[in-house]
Amino acid sequence: MESALTARDRVGVQDFVLLENYTSEAAFIENLRKRFKENLIYTYISSVLVSVNPYKDLEIYTKNHMERYRGVNFYEVSPHIYATSDNSYRSMRTERRDQCILISGESGAGKTEASKKILQYYAVTCPASDQVQTVKDRLLQSNPVLEAFGNAKTLRNDNSSRFGKYMDIQFDFKGAPVGGHIINYLLEKSRVVHQNHGERNFHIFYQLIEGGEEDLLRRLGLERNPQHYQYLVKGNCPKVSSINDRSDWKQVRKALTVIGFSEDEVEELMNIISSVLHLGNMQYGGDDGGSACITSDTQIKYLSRLLGVSGTVLTEALTHRKIIAKGEELMSPLNIEQASAARDALSKAVYGRTFTWLVNKINGSLAYTDESNKNSSVIGLLDIYGFEVFQYNSFEQFCINYCNEKLQQLFIELTLKSEQEEYEAEGITWEPVQYFNNKIICDLVEEKFKGIISILDEECLRPGDASDITFLEKLEDTVGSHPHFVTHKLADTKTRKLMGREEFRLLHYAGDVNYNVNGFLDKNNDLLYRNLKEVMCMSENKILTQCFDREELTDKKRPDTVRCVVLSHPSSSSVNTLISPGRFDEVLIRHQVKYLGLMENLRVRRAGFAYRRRYEIFLQRYKSLCPDTWPNWQGKLPEGVSTLVKHLGYKPEEYKMGRSKIFIRFPKTLFATEDALET
Ligand code: ATP
Ligand code: MG
Repeated sequence: MESALTARDRVGVQDFVLLENYTSEAAFIENLRKRFKENLIYTYISSVLVSVNPYKDLEIYTKNHMERYRGVNFYEVSPHIYATSDNSYRSMRTERRDQCILISGESGAGKTEASKKILQYYAVTCPASDQVQTVKDRLLQSNPVLEAFGNAKTLRNDNSSRFGKYMDIQFDFKGAPVGGHIINYLLEKSRVVHQNHGERNFHIFYQLIEGGEEDLLRRLGLERNPQHYQYLVKGNCPKVSSINDRSDWKQVRKALTVIGFSEDEVEELMNIISSVLHLGNMQYGGDDGGSACITSDTQIKYLSRLLGVSGTVLTEALTHRKIIAKGEELMSPLNIEQASAARDALSKAVYGRTFTWLVNKINGSLAYTDESNKNSSVIGLLDIYGFEVFQYNSFEQFCINYCNEKLQQLFIELTLKSEQEEYEAEGITWEPVQYFNNKIICDLVEEKFKGIISILDEECLRPGDASDITFLEKLEDTVGSHPHFVTHKLADTKTRKLMGREEFRLLHYAGDVNYNVNGFLDKNNDLLYRNLKEVMCMSENKILTQCFDREELTDKKRPDTVRCVVLSHPSSSSVNTLISPGRFDEVLIRHQVKYLGLMENLRVRRAGFAYRRRYEIFLQRYKSLCPDTWPNWQGKLPEGVSTLVKHLGYKPEEYKMGRSKIFIRFPKTLFATEDALET
């Protein structure tokens, strides 16, 4: 049998806190590399799971693997996403506390895949009855649907999430999953009308076109060719080798049925999806006075039928703006540019609201309605769009990266705070460790009155000459001296060379990003002309009537533009995912290790005690090493552990006894004990 030491040499340590040279980034990376070479993509930093994307299918997600992790302690099996899932589940069951699993990492790192693995683990291993089976099926099937409508190919990930998702899975007192609830955050709607080169629109459009049945496409007036649609050609990338749109369509269709969509609802949904494509193909021409007119009525005919609205009213609404002058309503003609913008705004609004409707509909089907069982607990799963930096970064990247900034803050608070709380609860004194708290960057973005979002909102509401450039100038005036903010004007010579005049740079926790202010005001305003809203309110499409509410027409309140994820769950686990391009790219991995603050996290874990074990678990595992504790210790648990470690020769500075746990300072102490077990 291979000795424990050589095994460690070959595959590294399975928990970074056991690393001898724990302050060395090189040693950290080397450990990841050793493990990655052996297809061991998971490693712990105590209760945090670090995962490196293998970009290939590994045989580690079988039912057998699930069984292996069920009800087993972290320490006894190799690190796995199933261990994290199982641990959260057992904490929820035994401590009766709600749990939350946060998944963070850059775009393409494997967050969504991780969240799906967790869900599958619960679906397979938790107890089930017939009714529960339906819930499990629906929970699982919600993924392909949400991904079809909310994911897209980007330059970084062929299946990139373009919305944030927080999903609660509800369990009854027997531990069976009985319901769920999804909250969606800020879909990247602009993708509906524009994609960067090499990117695609949301998957559903291609799935419908490639996979939709002949007579369905005929009813929708669609051609089986994505290149035919203006909204699908911007990125010049209709086909993606890793994606099979046709088979994905079949899967989505099945999923919609499992979730409980009726045939009529699916038809209404596809009416909306195809309407967006028809809208995109609408051509505007100008009359002599420069006013926009619609040159061909082909699209209007389809739109009128698919949306259930009057063609004449829609045509007028797409070429005019209703204004109120001296108490009278007037229709003021739009020029071509304005009319195109109004059309795009309508497409975005229709798609965005339909997406929210879809989430609500899924929630309805997952809703747990048994009033007699109020004692349910939940496990929350957070999977958002990852941090992203492109050559050109706009409002969308600003929102996405801000969300990630908040998530990192939550991660810091939860991991460091819970560590401190544990020492306190167990009556152990410790030395706090310095770490970079990114709160300063969150404040820069979100602070009331003087944060970037406030300044943007203010510019959006200011009448007169407000523009993207005046917004940039306001930023310079207000937050120009902030250490994490730079513009072309404020930069030193070296940085200035790397920046455009219309850009501001944020020094994020995960790296520096230049944002081009072009379009910030419009995108934040997200304006849909009132008369277009009125037309949608008249729609006979049953989904749209729920999406466009008449009350909204009388309500002057501005919708929240940037919302963010705030969680208040008492107990959490974290999964940090890392991208690797199929092989171990050291530069890329080092970058992520640095920015996710993994070294700091490790230092914090190690500054206190590398390992802690509940007395009963510690005794159970090692009792055979001491004649006084073997086969069973009859007295109090702490005394048993004390007797055991004294027998093993632990020195007083090597460990501390807490209220319910033993804390071991150095990994080598525990190694020696583990090795003793093997001999
Ligand atoms: P984004 O922020 O863009 O949504 P993400 O972190 O959610 O990115 P995923 O979509 O989960 O990234 O992963 C990207 C791709 O990496 C997957 O489509 C899959 O090909 C591969 N991948 C991720 N995790 C695994 C895994 N555990 N095993 C094999 N392949 C994986
Ligand atoms: Mg994702």
